[in-house]
Amino acid sequence: WTEGTVTDAENSLTELAALAETAGSQVLEGLIQRRTRPDPATYIGRGKVDDLSAVVLASGADTVICDGELSPSQLRNLEQRTKVKVVDRTALILDIFAQHAKSKEGKAQVELAQLEYLLPRLRGWGETLSRQTGGSGRGGGAGGGVGVRGPGETKLETDRRRIRHRISRLRREIKSMRTVRVTKRARRTRNSVPAVAIAGYTNAGKSSLLNRLTGAGVLVENALFATLDPTTRKATASDGRLYTLSDTVGFVRHLPHQIVEAFRSTLEEVAEADLVVHVVDGTHPDPEEQVRAVHAVLAEVSADRLPELLVVNKTDAADEDTLLRLKRLWPDAIFVSAHSGRGIDGLRAAIEERLPRPAVEVRAVLP
Ligand code: GDP
Repeated sequence: WTEGTVTDAENSLTELAALAETAGSQVLEGLIQRRTRPDPATYIGRGKVDDLSAVVLASGADTVICDGELSPSQLRNLEQRTKVKVVDRTALILDIFAQHAKSKEGKAQVELAQLEYLLPRLRGWGETLSRQTGGSGRGGGAGGGVGVRGPGETKLETDRRRIRHRISRLRREIKSMRTVRVTKRARRTRNSVPAVAIAGYTNAGKSSLLNRLTGAGVLVENALFATLDPTTRKATASDGRLYTLSDTVGFVRHLPHQIVEAFRSTLEEVAEADLVVHVVDGTHPDPEEQVRAVHAVLAEVSADRLPELLVVNKTDAADEDTLLRLKRLWPDAIFVSAHSGRGIDGLRAAIEERLPRPAVEVRAVLP
């Protein structure tokens, strides 16, 4: 369902399809419904569920992905009606983050987000589990799992407890890893090396630009969320000053709040930067919407007051009319192509110009 215009819904659905492909799925069909609000029981309207079931049957799909966050009962009802697995946008994004996390901290953050998503949904899964596993549940007890309060219920409690333990442990671990990072950052601040953070919508070309600017071999993938773990590289300005450039987590519309929470410490690092280089994909159908989405996330971590340099990337592939329109819209933006190298020198100069001047120590010597 959608409350916005059909074009909004189509853009969002195209992105959802890209996300699903990133997660390794093959996308067969798309279905849009216009409603004022989601159906409380089945998310899409009841009649539409029949259409969906027919599409599932005809296409041989084994999964339905909904572009939104489903309540645990909506998910269960849809699964019962369509007879296939139902996944919502949040679960899909969490899945992709899990596949891409590389650092220890990134992995712990994703696992925390996944468990927090899972905990309130465990009832549904637990019930299914107790029906399937019958009396074999570790919780033991008589009854063979026929009754609602059979061993499954005990198993569910055990599962919940285990998850809560794991959550608090992960929180502790993340906290201590964060301390290490903060210490490193403090050292950098003491040495007063200016920091530049590269932010931008996922797939805008942040990693490519970082490579262009520093010659670092950062993985570039044509997949959403290739960047999960921040990479920091040193760069030297033309006057010999040193500064750091960091790639940040890819932003996406409707970033699940569990993700924003889990990655808060990583995102907060952006707030410590001296300059944000905000990369926009010039070939995207709706770059303004992407810019808004990034600004919303930056505001959430109080990084919206930092000086920002807007950079429109992929000018080699963007059409001239769009570029002209964007130039009028953002007269101060720098237009570049990380691929061809066009505009990169200008970008470097613009960054250097905005770096804070080194503090000059002034000591008054009194007689
Ligand atoms: P990130 O997710 O923002 O870090 O984006 P990446 O740097 O991983 O790039 C995403 C995709 O866009 C990759 O397929 C890149 O090859 C492509 N890309 C990046 N910069 C350019 C560019 O200047 N021109 C074109 N045509 N494609 C680019």
